Amino acid sequence: MIAFNNPPFVGKELEYIKQAVDSGKLCGDGMFTKKCSEWMRERFDVRHVLLTTSCTHALEMAAYLCDLKPGDEVIMPSYTFVSTADAFVLRGAVPVFVDIRPDTMNIDEKLIEDAITDRTKVIAPVHYAGVSCAMDEIMEIAARHHLKVVEDAAQGVNAWYKGRALGTIGDFGCYSFHETKNYSMGEGGAIVFNRDEDLEKAEILREKGTNRSKFFRGQIDKYTWVDYGSSYLPSDMNAAYLYAELEMCEEIDRKRHAIYNLYHEAFRELEEKGRIQRPFVPDYAKHNAHMYYIKVRDLEERTRLIAYLKERGVMAVFHYIPLHSAAAGQKFGRFHGEDVWTTKESERLLRLPMFYNLDMKDAEYAASCVLDFFKE
Ligand SMILES: *Cc1c(COP(=O)(O)O)cnc(C)c1O
Repeated sequence: MIAFNNPPFVGKELEYIKQAVDSGKLCGDGMFTKKCSEWMRERFDVRHVLLTTSCTHALEMAAYLCDLKPGDEVIMPSYTFVSTADAFVLRGAVPVFVDIRPDTMNIDEKLIEDAITDRTKVIAPVHYAGVSCAMDEIMEIAARHHLKVVEDAAQGVNAWYKGRALGTIGDFGCYSFHETKNYSMGEGGAIVFNRDEDLEKAEILREKGTNRSKFFRGQIDKYTWVDYGSSYLPSDMNAAYLYAELEMCEEIDRKRHAIYNLYHEAFRELEEKGRIQRPFVPDYAKHNAHMYYIKVRDLEERTRLIAYLKERGVMAVFHYIPLHSAAAGQKFGRFHGEDVWTTKESERLLRLPMFYNLDMKDAEYAASCVLDFFKE
């Protein structure tokens, strides 16, 4: 049986976890949390990185830091994971969904402006499959209408837009280190941002509403409750796992691209014959091989293909029932404009096994099963 996903393991994870345990400090903001944040600050060229317990929590922090009031609107794609919307809904905001571009499955930047009302406060682009949204256009619209931009870069860690790391372009960027993502700590994430003014509020929010971060830096004598807050910082054991992966970032990236390229080559002819579509990466984007998907004719063909692959021991999956058709999406949000592509394309998309420890032979076998399906 070829799994769809396995959590990445590159080698030093357990050694680093042991070091964290031996250090006598297991709570948040220990040695490995600092190492991970420093590593990301350097590599992604961003001023502030705060590790969080998930990308969902990073998004919740971003929603809070955007100062949203109940009834404020946030423009986002409907084709995304629930957390993109949920984080804002928790603050009483209304997700306003717009259609995606069929080529990248990302929010269609050309439809954003029409969805803006006087309640709109934030645009939340999602970099699907680690392929960048059209960020220049989105940032330009945001600037013109004085909106904040929160990048859901859960899938976009170590992926780039015109040489800039995804997550570092908008006001806030949110990363995921869930076990299904490229770099993992089991459950975890980070919020990244550049403005120094946001740091104090972010630190307080993350540390239960206290100024404990300042206390640890020796800037104050006692720490106390100063504002609204929660607990968004992960244990240093989790950070230790992540640091082992970040150190091996190039190797993880290389392997994932090897799998991506294997699939991409294998399916070239199928695409030329018009049987399927392969992922498209615009010139402005350098992706991170987070995912490999194909788009087949329709829902019926996809259902048959999933069953066909399963019979042959290959786990292939689809995801994202568009949020505007989910019960909570209807209760909390609305779709602006026409759903030309969101539902149609989401029903055609099929994801193939893709993870660091996937054997290349298994990837080859999975690809050959897809080819066989279309021969029959
Ligand atoms: C995985 C994912 C999330 C949630 O990440 P967690 O770390 O599991 O909270 C949010 N948005 C997108 C687009 C994702 O793919």
